Amino acid sequence: MRIGAVEAGGTKFVCGYGNEQGVIEDRISFPTEMPEITIPKVIDYFRDKGVAAIGIGSFGPLGVDRTRPEYGHVTTTPKPGWNGYDFLGALKAAYPVPFGWDTDVNAAAYGEAIWGAAKGQSSCVYYTVGTGIGVGVYAQGRLVHGLVHPEGGHVLTRRHPEDAFAGVCPYHGDCLEGMAAGPGIEKRWGVKGSELPKDHPAWELEAYYLAQSIANTILLLSPQKVILGGGVMKQEQLFPLIRNEVSRNLNGYVSARALTEELDDYIVPPGLGDNAGLAGSLALGLAALRGIEV
Ligand code: ADP
Ligand code: ZN
Repeated sequence: MRIGAVEAGGTKFVCGYGNEQGVIEDRISFPTEMPEITIPKVIDYFRDKGVAAIGIGSFGPLGVDRTRPEYGHVTTTPKPGWNGYDFLGALKAAYPVPFGWDTDVNAAAYGEAIWGAAKGQSSCVYYTVGTGIGVGVYAQGRLVHGLVHPEGGHVLTRRHPEDAFAGVCPYHGDCLEGMAAGPGIEKRWGVKGSELPKDHPAWELEAYYLAQSIANTILLLSPQKVILGGGVMKQEQLFPLIRNEVSRNLNGYVSARALTEELDDYIVPPGLGDNAGLAGSLALGLAALRGIEV
């Protein structure tokens, strides 16, 4: 059986399909433009694929509360054409199949919980550190929604005593995303993160901010796995730096082997690698097909 998946990012869309084991069998990708251009491409892609369900993990903010009129819509984004756009409605009108719908990071957290690094666990958090920072939360076997959905990229962190950088978040300046997402790194150092050497001080500072947020997340939610993905996390040297900083922040207060001897296996890259987003969307589609509300 084929399950469709849409990973809708702010810069690019990926459409694909795969099987019930989460194996991706086909994919295409195109840049995110106005919905009038992008959504017909999505609809076209699935036309001859015979998918039994489709899962969508999208950039947001999104309406994710099924009881509210904005369910399925992109809500307050500054992205031209997408503010208030009924994304799910447009696809439902084209395909009479069950649909899964959630944020890109919740989708990735779910995929990781079903098939990836958090397989068999009932909780995990998924961070993407890229153009922005997002945090997906899977807890007690469900994806967390509430008033809207978690926006963990914009938490406030304590400033490094020697850091005078103002941050780039248009809402908060020096929130986590403003300090530690790709555009913040580029503004601070004058070059893209991918061009900085592995031993550049940028990475210690990056770990300093990310680890504070991760420590707070551990204290608040007690996740069984912390998964870090996104373009910036391609800098693998960040993992040991982040683990050290998380330890330093927690300072032995939370007693769990995962936070001591097993930390290397607790704060980890996505088990699904670069497929985390698309496979997560596929997992949402599969859940919808099976009538499982996540
Ligand atoms: P998006 O968040 O747009 O979906 P990515 O996760 O690829 O896409 O994030 C893009 C951001 O990550 C950019 O700001 C880019 O500079 C940064 N980035 C991408 N690759 C790397 C890398 N290897 N090292 C450091 N930063 C990177
Ligand atoms: Zn912010």
